[in-house]
Amino acid sequence: MEFRVKVDETTEQAVEACRQASSTKELEQVRVQYLGKKGELTGLLRGLGQLSAEERPLAGKMVNDAKTAVEDVLKARQQELRDAEQDQRLAAETIDISLPGRPRPQGTLHPITMVLDEIKDIFVGMGYQVAEGPEIENDYYNFEALNVPKDHPARDMQDTFYFNENFLLRSQTSPVQIRTMERQDPPVRIIAPGKVYRSDSDVTHSPMFHQVEGLLVDHNITFADLKGTLQLFAQKMFGVHTKTRFRASYFPFTEPSAEVDVSCIMCGGSGCRVCSNSGWLEILGSGMVDPRVLTKVGYDPAAVSGFAFGMGVERVAMLKYGIHDIRLLFDNDVRFLNQFAAKGGCQV
Ligand SMILES: [Zn+2]
Repeated sequence: MEFRVKVDETTEQAVEACRQASSTKELEQVRVQYLGKKGELTGLLRGLGQLSAEERPLAGKMVNDAKTAVEDVLKARQQELRDAEQDQRLAAETIDISLPGRPRPQGTLHPITMVLDEIKDIFVGMGYQVAEGPEIENDYYNFEALNVPKDHPARDMQDTFYFNENFLLRSQTSPVQIRTMERQDPPVRIIAPGKVYRSDSDVTHSPMFHQVEGLLVDHNITFADLKGTLQLFAQKMFGVHTKTRFRASYFPFTEPSAEVDVSCIMCGGSGCRVCSNSGWLEILGSGMVDPRVLTKVGYDPAAVSGFAFGMGVERVAMLKYGIHDIRLLFDNDVRFLNQFAAKGGCQV
């Protein structure tokens, strides 16, 4: 009987201690104190030896029941305390997700890249392929094959960077036209975008700039095809109301040749500072491919004909975005370049 009182008392104390524990850490101490190897309830089991053989099974069961009861209370309290501690931790770690984010600085396409992409898109849409070639050229491809033999006065039109007598930095992307025609038979329909180099530098000229040249050779190609193609290009590039004007000109590799003007994109043709009150802006050089150029690449000028045109990408970009100094395009001042972030590459 005395044993039962001891078990009950110890159980009561253990249950009370569980309830009093205010943290999982404290609760663990209670567990060790009563249920651990040297714990008080465990110790009672060791005391069984002093009881008589009849009393022993009943007393053993009593202690084991008490242990189970205490364990149940302990488990429940443990869950309570864990939940409370987790709630506390979550409350302390709360992140205010309503705080606005910090935007990362983002790069933008360079205006030259945007205009170049737009020009490519327009001509690819008309069925042209994009062709590329080396920037270091030899005299033959840059001049001779384009109907500019040595001592021809047209060589003075371009201030070329020479490496030696034969090699130079290409002064135009026209060599790509020759290389393409040498490789394939008509029909040829290509544009050649890329960097070109001339010894020239002021507010409208840079020693390195970008050109896009176009070439179409096929049967029965006439000047009317050239006009129609460039008119469509001008409308797509500068807007549907853009007009074009062809003026007779001279280029060594085309005959006849024409400079192409577009109606001023600033004033629409009524005259302003940008167009020097003429209403027109010079934008392209063009013409019918000189039969001698066709012969040089092995084509028969009696069977096929073609047209070619070329434009400076910087000039188009300057007109389109109202940039007055070409050097701004190459200074790469972020304050300048960021202005084009919202413009995208397309004008409708
Ligand atoms: Zn104007």
